[in-house]
Amino acid sequence: MDIHALIAKAEQDCAPVFAALEETEIKNTRRVLDAFRAEDIAARHFAPTTGYGYDDIGRDALERVFARLFGAESAIVRPAIACGTAALSLCLFGLLLPGDELLSVTGTPYDTMETVIGLSGNAPGNLKEMGVSYAQVEMTENQTKIDVPGVLAALKPNTRVILIQRSRGYAWRASLRPEEMQEAMQAVHAVRPDIFIMVDNCYGEFICENEPTHFGADVCVGSLIKNAGGGLAPTGAYLAGTKRAIERIEARLTAPGLGREVGSCAASYQPFYQGLFMAPHTVTQALKTAILAARTFELLGMKTTPAFDAPRADIIQAIEMGDPQKLIAFVQGIQAASPIDASAVPEPWDMPGYTDQVIMAAGTFVGGASIELSADAPMREPFTVYLQGGLTYAHGKIALISALESMERKGNVS
Ligand SMILES: *Cc1c(COP(=O)(O)O)cnc(C)c1O
Repeated sequence: MDIHALIAKAEQDCAPVFAALEETEIKNTRRVLDAFRAEDIAARHFAPTTGYGYDDIGRDALERVFARLFGAESAIVRPAIACGTAALSLCLFGLLLPGDELLSVTGTPYDTMETVIGLSGNAPGNLKEMGVSYAQVEMTENQTKIDVPGVLAALKPNTRVILIQRSRGYAWRASLRPEEMQEAMQAVHAVRPDIFIMVDNCYGEFICENEPTHFGADVCVGSLIKNAGGGLAPTGAYLAGTKRAIERIEARLTAPGLGREVGSCAASYQPFYQGLFMAPHTVTQALKTAILAARTFELLGMKTTPAFDAPRADIIQAIEMGDPQKLIAFVQGIQAASPIDASAVPEPWDMPGYTDQVIMAAGTFVGGASIELSADAPMREPFTVYLQGGLTYAHGKIALISALESMERKGNVS
């Protein structure tokens, strides 16, 4: 197989799709610049703070910038929130009280949420132990839409929070664009304005020109080592939403009565600001990488979701390898082209929190950051690999070539 000719053909096919992405990048970069300008961001916002962090202007202004970008009243943006799961958990514990019900309307949530809710395992302090019940509604029309009548029928007097997961995660379902959540969010709020609608927005930021909060979500939650950190934020997570929602959540973040008034950062918020500035560009680089991979494997006759030219709602590209050896060779090829840990050879292993063995490629500057090029797959039929990230398209392209070479060496493609 002539790998370079294949990539060249795929790239040619992708050209119009790439052009549309660059339009979105310009609009989103302008939105970020407008938010920075509105908050008059300056070098003084990069000064470190210690102790309680009262009057930390860098922290407060960063939270206002996020609120503006999400069309939200308020936001929490903190390096101290360990990861996306921690932010989602914080949100749930902020909004739910004993006796309340959580309703997921996009089927089974992301794997790590199962232990938070108490669907699997028996981790002390989970929602179930606190007396919060759980129900879910599956997506409809071949897993592409929220089942609005189904959601309305599932509402109970004690339904307090509705969870919408934007990204497909490790499931073969469609990811949702913000406007595709609008009908369900409006229908719920029309009959039950008291219900909090939270969106797990992980992997979704800056794909579109707006976010779920622009369409009626009460709160959007995401990780800063994914899209919104632009590849530069070293850790942390954000929550943006209504004052009513954020007020409850910030009481759990620190303590009731303290809320967002405390929390220092002895380093600097500079990489968070710069990462946010970079995010529309970085996300575009990751999307171009995903789209090139999709087209390349489509040309090889493999099944992909989304297709290279389909509308996107997140940075994840699923490719059905159909064979465990092909899958392993692909993941190893991605690792071999990483800037960090290129000599590591990934193998399937029993990762805590996951039912099947998992194989992962991640050679990242920020530990585990999946806005950087990474690939992961549960070792189960039909051996689908999930590819995401890429700080630069050039790296994405080189890694794809490396993956194809690895597959070819093992006799997996011809
Ligand atoms: C990554 C992710 C999470 C969890 O985030 P972590 O930072 O890994 O804890 C939750 N939901 C979705 C859809 C994700 O992609």
